[in-house]
Amino acid sequence: KKEIEAPIIIIGSGYGGAVSALRLCEAGKKVIMLEMGMNWGKSGISYSNMLKPDKSAAWLKTKTIAPFFNIFGLKPFTGVLDRLDFEHINIWLGRGVGGGSLVNGGMAVTPKQKYFEEIFPNLDAEKFYNIYFPRAKQELKVNVIREDFLNDCPYYKFTRVGEAEAHKAGFKTMRVPNVYDFTYMEKEYKNEVPRSAFKTEVIYGNNHGKNSLDKTYLQKALDTGNLEIFDLHCVDDIKMNNDKSYTLNVNQIDTSGKTVAEKIFHCKQLILAAGTMGTLQLLLKSNAENNFPLHENVGKNWGNNGNFMTGRNWVKPLSGGTGAQQSTIPVGGVDNWDDPKHPFFAEIAPLPMGMDVATALYLQINKVDKKGSVYYKNGKLILDWNESHTQKMKENADYFIKKMNKANGGTRAHLLFKNGFGANICYHPLGGCVLGEATNEFGKLKNHDHLFVLDGSLIPGTIGVNPFVTIVALTEYCIENLINLNEFS
Ligand code: FAD
Repeated sequence: KKEIEAPIIIIGSGYGGAVSALRLCEAGKKVIMLEMGMNWGKSGISYSNMLKPDKSAAWLKTKTIAPFFNIFGLKPFTGVLDRLDFEHINIWLGRGVGGGSLVNGGMAVTPKQKYFEEIFPNLDAEKFYNIYFPRAKQELKVNVIREDFLNDCPYYKFTRVGEAEAHKAGFKTMRVPNVYDFTYMEKEYKNEVPRSAFKTEVIYGNNHGKNSLDKTYLQKALDTGNLEIFDLHCVDDIKMNNDKSYTLNVNQIDTSGKTVAEKIFHCKQLILAAGTMGTLQLLLKSNAENNFPLHENVGKNWGNNGNFMTGRNWVKPLSGGTGAQQSTIPVGGVDNWDDPKHPFFAEIAPLPMGMDVATALYLQINKVDKKGSVYYKNGKLILDWNESHTQKMKENADYFIKKMNKANGGTRAHLLFKNGFGANICYHPLGGCVLGEATNEFGKLKNHDHLFVLDGSLIPGTIGVNPFVTIVALTEYCIENLINLNEFS
């Protein structure tokens, strides 16, 4: 087996990994990043759109894995979208250089300060709202759609209808910032540049327009000359050596998923940024199989960020519905967070089917009253999570849909989900390695001297909004402090 020595290794190239890489590289450190997915930018292969799923559509599957309307006939390929299926919940993830930023809707939402303070009582919120959130938004290139464009553009009829109906039902709405470049979008509308958001591209990757991490943090880190990314390198497990350094067993795969080389990587400092589920898989598996030391809090305090999908069928079919043409980039949401009985945020989501299906789709984000936990048994990850954990979310969804239908007509979306509710749909797995519980105050894993967890698993299961801006801000905060404390010398 080929053996490779590196001072610092980062596992995973999503938000936590990309931010850590940039700040370490800027501090003059040499960094190796291991990513199981492909480097799409380098590959020359285009992303496919939702109406014509192809190579990028799914991670090594024969059938597409979008939340609805899936088709057979895929040839297994290392696509960008993956889904992990647990007994009561399905979790969607991004795979590739850029992690979740390649497949997500780009919604860049800063949490409400009051809720952030409730979730992270030990952090200095003023510092976050004055320094780390603004820094995150600047690096991610967050911008907001122009209202005039939104009001005129046929591709945003679903948002206009969604907002008007919400107002009629007595709800407040909010404009949602995004990392998709809205200047580019206006040009694509005028057909001055190739289309992406208006060509049903998003969950299988965007060929244009979206400022995913490969165009922001990772590009900047590569420009320092200190970062080397090994794509299609899947870390299987981790061992801690007697001198407290780490050894990783890694499989290099080809685009059909076949192992083409087995490699061993050694490093003094290790950053785990494999995303909530990837990080938990590596830690819990290594613990079960290699006696890897773990604190009892690893796997605890996990949540789905209150994700609950719901929708309405027959949204004014006779007066034009939600529109045949839909942008894939959401820009609006229903903000009911301040309602003490039914606090939730609901993204007004597109359903770009290429025809008017007169259906409104919402991804609700609720509080998580009952947290779950994750453990490893019989060679696989198990999630302690069932209907009891989503009961309150279901009540909120029911309240929301009933109120919307009463004011506007329509029915619960039985065509999209069993019983009209998608309790099992999760895009935002969070927690399991919670900051200050499984780690120290800056992400160093308890019982370890040189292992740092920097990704969504630091957030205790809920943050009240789409999470990547918070993951970026938290990583900026942790890595700045870790570098200042000479943890990487
Ligand atoms: P990730 O971004 O998941 O990155 C982890 C990386 O590690 C992946 O590239 C993975 O392939 C790699 N990896 C894992 N295990 C291994 C291993 N063993 N070896 C090597 N590499 C490994 N959030 C928002 O804020 N706004 C949105 O609009 C939004 N929309 C979403 C839409 C979809 C369809 C999905 C799936 C998610 C969405 N999210 C959104 C969630 C957001 O993308 C995630 O919260 C975020 O990507 C998590 O960041 P992370 O750094 O924790 O890990």
